[in-house]
Amino acid sequence: MATGRLIVLTGPSGVGKGTLLRSLLKRHPELYLSISVTTRSPRPGEVDGQQYYFTDRAAFEQMAANGELLEWAEFAGNYYGTPRQPVEHQIQRGNWVVLEIELEGARQIRQTFPKALRIFILPPSLFELEQRLRGRGQDSEEAILRRLGRAKAEIDAANEFDIQVINDDLNRAIAQIEAALFSTSRVPCGQGNS
Ligand code: ADP
Ligand code: 5GP
Repeated sequence: MATGRLIVLTGPSGVGKGTLLRSLLKRHPELYLSISVTTRSPRPGEVDGQQYYFTDRAAFEQMAANGELLEWAEFAGNYYGTPRQPVEHQIQRGNWVVLEIELEGARQIRQTFPKALRIFILPPSLFELEQRLRGRGQDSEEAILRRLGRAKAEIDAANEFDIQVINDDLNRAIAQIEAALFSTSRVPCGQGNS
């Protein structure tokens, strides 16, 4: 029977996680990307149920209190969390599930899914990170500053992860992630000791 697996992708906002993932999912449609719940407002073009499930703080807090979230954290003034049921369902079916989450959530997953493969994406420099955040042109100045303010602490934690990938050249970064995912030497990463 196929063995499910959990893969965590973390890195500072603007480093290119979403860009890398879009490319990765195109190349490997068998990967299942978890859609998070957030209290952040949708950016232009974002659709409820596609990039995120958008909700308000009261509903989010209720979900967390009900144990409906696998992990959750507050980031730059908003809540973000991973719905538990779809992830557990996909892993039970033997699928590979990808979580694109920030540092605090990744730390929670380390406790609950110790065998998850955890990948940290690094920018070539803080200067380049700021350029990318600004170049994306989708966040307010306040949001950009909050994200940059958090970036250094996140980058300092990169060594907590199994693998660090510098997203300088996009194709090279994708190749490194693929090598980590599909190298035969790695054991499957299910929950607990399973
Ligand atoms: P994140 O999901 O980590 O917040 P995004 O995927 O939204 O980041 O990327 C932020 C910006 O950086 C986007 O404008 C994207 O096109 C750009 N970008 C991503 N990867 C690279 C790269 N390797 N080189 C240059 N620009 C990149
Ligand atoms: P953004 O607002 O740019 O979409 O996301 C901000 C940060 O929240 C990013 O670092 C992203 O990885 C993280 N994030 C997205 N979904 C989740 C989630 O479900 N849980 C946690 N802990 N972080 C998330």
